[in-house]
Amino acid sequence: MTFPYSETELRQQLCDIGRMMYERGFIGAADGNLAVRLDESRLLVTPSGCLKGFMVPEEMVVTDLDGTPIGGGRPSTEIQMHVALLRERQDVSAVVHAHPPYCVAFSLAGIPLTRCIIPEIVVTIGNVPTVPYATPGTRELPDSLREPIRSADVLLLERHGMVTVADELWNAFKLLDMVEHSAKIVHLALQLGPAQVLDQEQVSKLMQSRYDLGIQSRNTLAQDLLARLACSTPITRKS
Ligand SMILES: [Zn+2]
Repeated sequence: MTFPYSETELRQQLCDIGRMMYERGFIGAADGNLAVRLDESRLLVTPSGCLKGFMVPEEMVVTDLDGTPIGGGRPSTEIQMHVALLRERQDVSAVVHAHPPYCVAFSLAGIPLTRCIIPEIVVTIGNVPTVPYATPGTRELPDSLREPIRSADVLLLERHGMVTVADELWNAFKLLDMVEHSAKIVHLALQLGPAQVLDQEQVSKLMQSRYDLGIQSRNTLAQDLLARLACSTPITRKS
């Protein structure tokens, strides 16, 4: 694993993304938290209880890989969620957690975000699994995410929020932004009538585009579809 950003740059990225999350309405007040690998043995995380829209670089907390603070103040109360996600996914460096209202509203209404409706989401993310409710701030929450995060970069936490993981902080934020924007579109569509889903042929073509474009994010749908098509027509890379 490489670490392309300095500690100074990462402290600033955490502040910038916290502000973006607040300005875009993905969190309120002190909601949400972020973590990023600083190097092979340390994490840089947002502090507990602070307003994420107004953080300064000096506030960020350095912890070891178990989430024990070794510099700065007290880390986020959800530090163990970040630790669990980064343990399960050695291929990613950054975790973003927020409470985006459209996504959370879908989970409150019991409507899953697993239908293939928005082509861009199908190509990059696949679908968004919902993880059954677990009490925030307890061991239940990190434990509930270990299995599902192995096959997805984006998880909707029932009645709670969203987590995204990526190779760097801005890419994790990008996934959050994309999914919430899509949930907003679907919500608007549902005010007008049923939201039409893509058929399997359309989804297969989108998966082909994904391979042609060389998109490497973990995609739930690509894995499901590849499994289903394994004995029939395989998706091929363009030669
Ligand atoms: Zn939360």
